[in-house]
Order: sequence, then C-alpha cells, then structure tokens
Amino acid sequence: MICPFCRHDDSRVIDSRPVEDGTQIRRRRECPQCSQRFSTQEVALLNIIKRSGATEPFSREKVLVGVRKACQGRPVNEDDLVLLAQRVEETLRSTGQAEIEAHEVGMAILAPLRELDEVAYLRYASVYRNFASLEDFEGEIALLRALPSNVSSNSSTPSSASKKTESSVKN
Ligand SMILES: [Zn+2]
Repeated sequence: MICPFCRHDDSRVIDSRPVEDGTQIRRRRECPQCSQRFSTQEVALLNIIKRSGATEPFSREKVLVGVRKACQGRPVNEDDLVLLAQRVEETLRSTGQAEIEAHEVGMAILAPLRELDEVAYLRYASVYRNFASLEDFEGEIALLRALPSNVSSNSSTPSSASKKTESSVKN
C-alpha cells in the first residue's frame, strides 16, 4: 500500500483488528520511508444481482429508503432504521457469498422489520411478496398472531402458562 504522506510504494502492517462485528478489518500501517502511520480498512465486496442481471454494490442506503417508506407514520425512529439496515447487511454477509440476488435482500429485511413494527412489515410484505387480495393480508395477519415475533411481547402479557406450571408443580 502506497504511503499517503510521501508516496513511498510500500508500508508495513503494525496492527490488525476486526471491526463491525468481524465483517471488516482495520489495519494500522507504518511507512518505512517517512515513519508516518495511517490506517486502512478492508471489507469484502458484496454485490447485489438485480433482476436485469446487472450487479451493483450492496447499499445500506437503498435498504433504508425502502424500509423508511414502509414505516411512514409509524412509531419508528431513524436509529431503529439504521440498526435494521445494519442487521440486514450482517445477515447477508454472514452467508459468505460475494454476490446476492436482490430478492434475498428483500427476504433479509422481512424478519427484522417484523420485529420492529408489524404494520410496516405488512406494508413491506404486501409489495415485496405481491399480495394480491384481502386473503393474502388475512393469511399473513393470522401468521403474525400465531407466531409472536419476539419474547418481549410474550413476557408483557400476564403469563397464564407460568401459573399453570406452578399449580401443576403443587399437584
Ligand atoms: Zn511515507
């Protein structure tokens, strides 16, 4: 790597550590010519294959744009959305694939969006999964009711299950 200070055509790595949950590597480098230090960051290239067959680099910003639209008027703040986009990127990177179909990006958005806001999830899913009728919505809502998206929504309801367990222990 060329030294950004004196343009010497080599540099020495003096420290290397994972950042962003291990999806990136930051290296501290030193120039043997002028002794200046600088950092580089290494991230695996992640390309998205569009329907047209063309590829483009993954963009958190594009995820944000789509999700923000679905969350309009919902009690969701910008930090939640940024975190969601980060989770989507981590999910995609954890597959270890260098190229991912645009369709899979949509799939990776669904789960965290559902945890964030069920109405926004339904909006997003209706576009993304081409809901064509009321029955499609009803089916999805039935699924949402049947499978609570996270533990905290369970624990906030009075737990009749634990009471049953207590009484069965007494018996
Ligand atoms: Zn230098």
